[in-house]
Amino acid sequence: MKYFILFGPPGAGKGTQAAAIAERFNLRHVSTGELLRNEIASGSELGVMAKKLIDAGSLVPDEVVEGMIEALFNAVTGIDGFLLDGFPRTTAQAEVLDDMLAKRGESVTSVISLMIPDELVRERIRHRATIEGRTDDASDETISNRIATYHKKTEPLVAYYKERDKYMVIDGVGTIEEVRERVLSALEPFSKDRPE
Ligand code: ADP
Repeated sequence: MKYFILFGPPGAGKGTQAAAIAERFNLRHVSTGELLRNEIASGSELGVMAKKLIDAGSLVPDEVVEGMIEALFNAVTGIDGFLLDGFPRTTAQAEVLDDMLAKRGESVTSVISLMIPDELVRERIRHRATIEGRTDDASDETISNRIATYHKKTEPLVAYYKERDKYMVIDGVGTIEEVRERVLSALEPFSKDRPE
């Protein structure tokens, strides 16, 4: 199985590019943000707790997302791997992911990092707010907190995966099609080794 991680700041275009990558490699796209938004929509206890944190621009507890990911690893069949989007988001989550995969005799295949500058993060999120209506996109304060949370908690993963030789960076500035071309050609080397 292949385990790709789609990495980058909020608004980098991870969700937008995910479909093409998942289709190209027969992967299941897993967005933890989307899973959490489904919980919120369902009105579950977890959703109520998550909404408060998400609307403040904070992260939900590591255990919550780790549980969601493990449940999917156990349940999903008929694919050649997973495309993780929004997970891991902390060094603790990355370590847990490594353990989960090691138990299965697997490991992270590669990290695809979409990079855009902070000013563009703000611009894209402001634009998305007019289309998708996400409450965490609505206020400048929440967006600032999300950018700060990204730099403090998530950015250390760049070093984590570089050290392990799994890190690949793609320029996320450009049109959707331009970025898709860059991502798919960077991933070309992975199309040859077939999954067992
Ligand atoms: P974006 O990529 O725009 O930041 P996401 O849809 O990936 O948005 O995530 C929305 C929110 O869900 C995050 O700001 C965070 O509060 C929560 N979240 C998503 N994934 C995780 C995770 N792996 N760990 C903790 N919180 C998460």
